[in-house]
Amino acid sequence: MQYRSPSRTSASVALFDRANRSVPGGVNSPVRAFTAVGGVPRFIASARGCWLTDADGNDYVDLVNSWGPMLLGHAHPAVVEAVRESAGGGLSFGAPTEVELELAEEIIRRVEPVAKVRLVNSGTEATMSAIRLARGFTGRSKIVKFAGCYHGHSDGLLVAAGSGVATLSLPDSPGVTGAAAHDTIVLPYNDVAAVRALFDEAGSEIAAVITEAVPCNMGVVPPAAGFNAELRRLSSEYRALLIIDEVLTGFRVSESGWFGIEGVPGDLYTFGKVMSGGLPAAAFGGRADVMDRLAPAGPVYQAGTLSGNPVAVAAGLATLRCADAQVYTAVDENSKRLMRLIHESLGAAGVPHTIQRAGSLFSVAFTERAGPANYEEVKSSDTWRYAPFFHALLEQGVYPPPSPFEAWFVSSALDETAFSAIADALPAAAAAAAAAPRESVHGG
Ligand SMILES: *Cc1c(COP(=O)(O)O)cnc(C)c1O
Repeated sequence: MQYRSPSRTSASVALFDRANRSVPGGVNSPVRAFTAVGGVPRFIASARGCWLTDADGNDYVDLVNSWGPMLLGHAHPAVVEAVRESAGGGLSFGAPTEVELELAEEIIRRVEPVAKVRLVNSGTEATMSAIRLARGFTGRSKIVKFAGCYHGHSDGLLVAAGSGVATLSLPDSPGVTGAAAHDTIVLPYNDVAAVRALFDEAGSEIAAVITEAVPCNMGVVPPAAGFNAELRRLSSEYRALLIIDEVLTGFRVSESGWFGIEGVPGDLYTFGKVMSGGLPAAAFGGRADVMDRLAPAGPVYQAGTLSGNPVAVAAGLATLRCADAQVYTAVDENSKRLMRLIHESLGAAGVPHTIQRAGSLFSVAFTERAGPANYEEVKSSDTWRYAPFFHALLEQGVYPPPSPFEAWFVSSALDETAFSAIADALPAAAAAAAAAPRESVHGG
């Protein structure tokens, strides 16, 4: 297709101005506001395949894909048709349906350690519920999470700060009380010794370790060889549960998510994003003996008026049914091709960088060092190079994630026109990254 490269932004500017009058910060989820890169967020009018069209009529190659869900690209015909058909038959019943079983069964079929599944509406709800369940199951209260891992915005998980074996857990956001954060212990990622030391000291109080299968919310930081396996071993030894958060990686990096690549089994899993097909749906699941503690089978309460919503389930199910081996091969190939283009342009412009990769997920860190292994190392990279890099791409019709701490998401729908737009845009973006003044204030 012919794409129009962005030149006008007046409609987005006017909409953002209007948005700020009725919506806090003008957006319904903070990262959409472009805070990390500056400038005015583009208001999207429509999307098809790998292309976004904004309110000014500009087209962009989408490398965010709604932060992951749109594995097949936008407005995939089979998904849109499934949604239309489902919507025509009623939007919500507050009673069980057959399609929600099909989605649960599809998840169980794909991820071997998952025996039972409950559907919820967001990844936040999935992790929050999995934690309550782990506490109810073990009768313990402490949760271990890793600095830089994001598990949604529930109070007890909005704790990311803390260095070393943080016994002083400080909440990350005003409004999260010390009491809510008190039972969350934050450890540095990829630090096996810290996890061992904590279990040796307090293993009998730990209900669960929660970890992103691969952290992708501090940029992509792959687990060191054996790290997840050691979490598995220690959790089993101390009879804590291992909660593997695959909200982002699930059904994206392989048919069965990161489990399909690494094979380390968790006790509980959380899913969202791809399995939602782009509508609000998420899930948690795992061992039958643990899941059967949930109400009404067991005493741990969890509920939702719209949970298992038939239209959302139809979108998720249609997406997973389309996501076959061919789709994952295409996503992998597209991702490799994109990484190669980025690497070549940054190299040609002399910009120190490293591309961190996990399956088809990757992020670009501006640093000379090999791979940042934890949040501290990511934060110490030249993150100030990102804003000019981002804006140069955006101005040329390529839409990368608006923060250096986010992964790039590719779809199976990237086509040759998109790749030539990307290849055309990258040299100027790499030059902008090279010329970036240290600690530059956000431009655009
Ligand atoms: C996106 C994400 C969540 C939160 O999901 P929402 O649907 O945004 O609430 C949780 N965990 C991980 C790893 C995520 O990437």
